[in-house]
Amino acid sequence: MFDQLRLLIRLQAVDKTLFDLGQERDVIPGRLADLTQAEQALHGQLEAQQTQLDQVLKRKADLEEIADNVRARLRRAENRLMGSKSGKEYQAANAEIDDGKDSLKDTENQLLEVMEQVEALEKKVAGLKERHDQLAAASQEERTQLEERYHNTDTEISRLAGTREELATEIDKGLMKDYDFIRQARDGVALAAVSEGTCTVCHMTIPPQQFNELQRMDKIMSCPSCRRLIYWAEAEQLKEDQ
Ligand SMILES: [Zn+2]
Repeated sequence: MFDQLRLLIRLQAVDKTLFDLGQERDVIPGRLADLTQAEQALHGQLEAQQTQLDQVLKRKADLEEIADNVRARLRRAENRLMGSKSGKEYQAANAEIDDGKDSLKDTENQLLEVMEQVEALEKKVAGLKERHDQLAAASQEERTQLEERYHNTDTEISRLAGTREELATEIDKGLMKDYDFIRQARDGVALAAVSEGTCTVCHMTIPPQQFNELQRMDKIMSCPSCRRLIYWAEAEQLKEDQ
């Protein structure tokens, strides 16, 4: 009886650690996915701004080309003005010069506007790029740590699973079945110490009659409240097992 109880106490300690390690390990993939998602979101923002900047730069190049063409047209009209041989030719060249100057002014105004847009977008892209690089570096560091922790907890879980298997072979099959059934239903804790008449897991007082029975320690009993297997914590025979 004591041997079985001692084995159960050791098993419960192993299972508690296994449960905690399992929880620690199992949140890691989600955390890794969060890191990837945050990076991708920022990367998407950066790409969108870069695309906008490229479009504005293209518009700037187009306007510069238009301005160059207008200037060339103006130069030609000015040449024609100089060489004009009639009042009609002179007036036509003059009209084209006026028209060209208006057009150039308009294009240059548009260019100024576009250059402001380029400047603002370049600032935005640079800021996003810096944030992106910082995030990528921090993510990489965290990712390495998380992967290491996953590996370590996984290794420890495998080791403890071996210990658990060894312990389980020494425990009575029926008792083991009860224990596992309760453990799965009760967040990994199937065994509870009863100290000073109270279940130390659910904190309910064990009725005096049952507590007396428990202190005789001739059978494995259950907590009337949480249904966990219970043992008397103050038993001399179990002092060194807890
Ligand atoms: Zn209880």
